[in-house]
Amino acid sequence: MSTFEVIKQYADALEPELKALSIAIHDHPELGEQEVFACQQHCALLEKYGFQVEKNFTGLPTAFKATYRSAKPGPTIAFLAEYDALPGIGHGCGHSILGAVSTGAGIVAKQLLEQTGIGGVIEVYGTPAEETNGNKALMADAGAFDQVDAAMMTHPSDNYYRSGSSLGIVPLRFEFFGKTAHAAACPEMGINALHAVISLFNNISALREHFQPDARVHGVIKDGGKAANVVPDYTMAEFYVRADKKSYLEKLVGQVKNCAEAAALSNGAKVKISNFEACYDNMITNEALSDLFTEKLLEVGVPQVLDARPSKGSTDAGNVSQRCPMIHGHFSISDHGSVPGHTVEFAACAASDYAHQQMMLNVRAFAMSAYELITKPELLQKVKDEFKHAMENR
Ligand SMILES: [Zn+2]
Repeated sequence: MSTFEVIKQYADALEPELKALSIAIHDHPELGEQEVFACQQHCALLEKYGFQVEKNFTGLPTAFKATYRSAKPGPTIAFLAEYDALPGIGHGCGHSILGAVSTGAGIVAKQLLEQTGIGGVIEVYGTPAEETNGNKALMADAGAFDQVDAAMMTHPSDNYYRSGSSLGIVPLRFEFFGKTAHAAACPEMGINALHAVISLFNNISALREHFQPDARVHGVIKDGGKAANVVPDYTMAEFYVRADKKSYLEKLVGQVKNCAEAAALSNGAKVKISNFEACYDNMITNEALSDLFTEKLLEVGVPQVLDARPSKGSTDAGNVSQRCPMIHGHFSISDHGSVPGHTVEFAACAASDYAHQQMMLNVRAFAMSAYELITKPELLQKVKDEFKHAMENR
């Protein structure tokens, strides 16, 4: 029997349990960092199929790492699962089925390693809170992916798309501290923290003329003072700073921080700068890995895989992509045209029979990709060489 047929047999046998996993999580939506049920469901299935499961991974209560080590040493191939939902609309981003694809791919790849006796390590990572405090970023900072040779995942969408790019993002909070005073009776006694925050916006607007085209800097004033007859002694603004290259993002963050320092200096206020959420790196697709996965998708019967869609959003998968070679593709869960993400309609698609047929095609294509990476050292070397080059030029 060919490897293709062996994988199909394992995938077919797993299908009822994998679909049950996807539906159970879909019907029991949990917000980021509260995914207790989903985490437990994934871990139980992976343990049943012989993975060693580490819960509370890197100290994150709803993260996990599941590992299967074959008898012989070999490359480490990882699949990344997500399972957080959105407030009010449940699995409107389809992470219920995204996670099932990754866990299913891990299980089938593991079975193939066992059956063929080849050397390698299969890992499945449970990565909480993609929608909010992207735990992949925290896991990457903890070194979780530093030993991984290739990491793969794919996200529900309205069609099949190759893995693309995303912007890096740094969330900055600026707090200005002034001195309160009666705004009419003794304004000379005050230091106006509102003027400092307005200067911050004006300084950034002036700087914008010199931004590279991909840069995005956008913010709001969350506290602008309390009363018109009181000189505000405290104001606070939050900004997202985004760019498509890490080196430029670092420069841009420095410039935006200078805008805040200058704003404070201009009227004697003090400024405190902090991050209010996790920072995400820009996504760097490993094209050699993407070519492999695309080829396997076509082999299992996906009619076409479109070029990556240009994205000006940000994702915590970016942080993983700067630790190890990675792809983050998209797959179709709708057989009736485009359905926008983060809607109840998209959530309904994620539970459909059509979506689960596509889930199984992805599982098979991922397992075949893992097998080729392990059995073709020259292919894995190409993936690693590309990653090394990307890290030298990021
Ligand atoms: Zn999503």
